[in-house]
Amino acid sequence: MPELPDVEIAKRYLDELLGGSTITRAESKDQRVLRPHPPSALARTLAGRTVREVSRRGKWLRVVLDDGSRIFSHLGMTGWWEEREVDQPAERSERARIDVVSPEGRARSARYLDSRRFGRLILSQGDIAEWTALGPDPLADGIDMAALAAAFTRTRRAVKESLMDQSVLAGIGNILATEALWHAKIDPRSPSNALSRSDVAAIVRGLRTAIRRELKTREASEPGHAHDIFSVYGRAGEPCPRDGSTLVRVVIAGRTTAFCKHCQVRKRRAKPRASRSRAASPERLASR
Ligand SMILES: [Zn+2]
Repeated sequence: MPELPDVEIAKRYLDELLGGSTITRAESKDQRVLRPHPPSALARTLAGRTVREVSRRGKWLRVVLDDGSRIFSHLGMTGWWEEREVDQPAERSERARIDVVSPEGRARSARYLDSRRFGRLILSQGDIAEWTALGPDPLADGIDMAALAAAFTRTRRAVKESLMDQSVLAGIGNILATEALWHAKIDPRSPSNALSRSDVAAIVRGLRTAIRRELKTREASEPGHAHDIFSVYGRAGEPCPRDGSTLVRVVIAGRTTAFCKHCQVRKRRAKPRASRSRAASPERLASR
């Protein structure tokens, strides 16, 4: 499933393909991908417009047109944008196409391919709630450690689940969360509000490492065809790359997670003291 690094690559690709060009033809025959709009809406809204900007936030892509209207694209599980010759007929998994002519007069065709059709295309006059509700994007905005620590103190849910909450950080999915927590040496089941400042710092470093590695792999491969080498994701039963212990599998919030019981420490909340001294207890301060 595409996560932040995949969508970042898709953004660069789509920007190179569509940025500054004028749309000559737009088409979708797929009711499910373009819901709630009828397929004909794509042609009506886009034809003749110029693409002003292609941007990304978390796992969402946004194409802004010269009249301010926009098209949002979420790749779902198997979605991808790919260039085809303008006269090339649609292949089976094609759900939409946007043809453009560049300022230099070059005709190009962007096709949205999605075999399983969990992706979305949304036409809108302004930003949609799915976009505005997203938390900071680790690449575009950086990761604010204090804000992340504050989000963790508000909940007892497993730290992995907090990391995958798109309102906490945008674009972190199962892969990046699993990898980052291994880098940080923290058990993914640890309650979010049991983490200390140094734990949060380790997670921020882990996220940066995981994102950088993923992005590098993708930059070195054909778009949409990166061959990943993960440290722990999808490797339960195999040895931990750090210490050789067998990686185990748990399910957290419905998602399979691999981790190492030997080097990833399970953080626990300090036991609350008598209620009067609770707020000032050193354990509680340490976990903030
Ligand atoms: Zn280990």
